[in-house]
Amino acid sequence: MNKRDFLKTSGILLSGAAVSRLVPAEQTSQTTGPRTNWAGNLTYSTDHLYAPASVEEVQQIVKRCDKLRALGARHSFNAIADSTANQISLEHLDEMTIDDKAHTVTVGAGVRYGKLAPYLDSRGYALNNLASLPHVTVVGACSTATHGSGIHNGNLSTIVSAIEFVTADGSLATLSHAKDGDTFNGAVVSLGALGVITRITLNLLPTFQMRQVVYENLSFDQLQHNLDTIFGSGYSVSLFTDWQNHRATQVWIKSVVRPGEAANMPPQFYGATLATKKLHPIAGHDATPCTEQQGIPGPWYERMPHFRMNFTPSSGAELQTEYFVAREHAYEAILAVEKLRDRITPLLFITELRTIAADNLWMSMAYKRDSMAIHFTWKPEWPAVKALLPLIEKQLEPFNPRPHWAKLFTIPPAQLEAKYEKLPDFKSLVKQHDPSGKFRNAFLETNLYTT
Ligand SMILES: Cc1cc2nc3c(=O)[nH]c(=O)nc-3n(C[C@H](O)[C@H](O)[C@H](O)COP(=O)(O)OP(=O)(O)OC[C@H]3O[C@@H](n4cnc5c(N)ncnc54)[C@H](O)[C@@H]3O)c2cc1C
Repeated sequence: MNKRDFLKTSGILLSGAAVSRLVPAEQTSQTTGPRTNWAGNLTYSTDHLYAPASVEEVQQIVKRCDKLRALGARHSFNAIADSTANQISLEHLDEMTIDDKAHTVTVGAGVRYGKLAPYLDSRGYALNNLASLPHVTVVGACSTATHGSGIHNGNLSTIVSAIEFVTADGSLATLSHAKDGDTFNGAVVSLGALGVITRITLNLLPTFQMRQVVYENLSFDQLQHNLDTIFGSGYSVSLFTDWQNHRATQVWIKSVVRPGEAANMPPQFYGATLATKKLHPIAGHDATPCTEQQGIPGPWYERMPHFRMNFTPSSGAELQTEYFVAREHAYEAILAVEKLRDRITPLLFITELRTIAADNLWMSMAYKRDSMAIHFTWKPEWPAVKALLPLIEKQLEPFNPRPHWAKLFTIPPAQLEAKYEKLPDFKSLVKQHDPSGKFRNAFLETNLYTT
């Protein structure tokens, strides 16, 4: 449906104010210049972006569009959020409501972690984990099983306790952990297929302080027998590598600070050396955008992400890829990828290795599998990266790698589908709420609906 058709058929055309909110959001910040994702590697296939100001307006837009795809903060690297017809941004739905009895927060779909986290902290609460950056929306992140690190920490979707969404016929539905059991496990990592999520509820922890310590040059040999201990040495641990010299260039250990407890910062960690200044994970990059290191305590939300809210995360002009393998095979998987080091390094800004606890969410990359994720931040050289990905995927094949839903991969659809045993149930669930495939886009058609 184009803008004119939409306005013609819109029942709220009579109100100037309503129209301006419902007009495809050419006036919003996301539509100056070509409409691209955050990394700029993808130009969206439609100019029709709606930016409703209320749940009722979302319902009206959903009813009127034949095809529609929800858009979060545009941080996905592939076409998962793309549409050739219409996109809808919920950036104006930004309310946050804490339930002190239930220890939950319910947020509008436009809320980003960077806004939510300080608010929660000021009210005495924390989230279980955060991704490397706070710029993404809670809903966009949870819809793709976005994760942080920590062998005991599930991905960000694992603390979702309820979702409210608009189904294909425009009605409002809710699903919750409390009342919907395993169906809810199917709905959380929805990949945008279930409907337009308007609100999401998260379980909260009491607030806590953290500190972050960085070590340099950890030999991969140490991972052969100590991988679990190394990744378990903090609440959240990340290893970075450029794949050269058989070592992690940096180890970032994020630990919970208990009142009165001094920082435990031995000068050596499994042969790696304590960093004496703040470091960026990518060698030679200015560390100013990074969160505080060197054991300085601070709130959880200023230590768990690697990058501070008001700065560009990561490198900026970049591409990302990430594969999840079972943690029990993590060391072998690292060695398998290492064989390609001289093909990888010239195209790479940095690799990050993180762990994620197993969960029950049907479409999660960590479904029923304690995992280690092998992440690549690539230089923006897509033809060369695209040629390399099948080689990495072949190396990882014995470990049944699951690619991150929001990043770049080339695993053939039939193989991908086989990695998700609950995919048939997921498709049935989607069909209940979207019988005609209104929310299905080319990415989903290709990757989930070819077989
Ligand atoms: C610099 C950088 C660092 C990153 N670091 C990490 C990391 O540490 N860990 C990690 O796991 N990932 C990471 N990512 C990936 C990122 O977390 C995911 O791409 C995430 O999905 C982005 O959320 P978003 O708000 O930008 O959503 P988008 O990319 O806009 O959308 C993602 C998906 O969510 C769906 N969606 C969004 N809003 C709604 C809604 N209201 N209703 C229904 N569906 C919706 C979209 O349709 C789409 O399928 C990183 C990305 C970047 C650019």
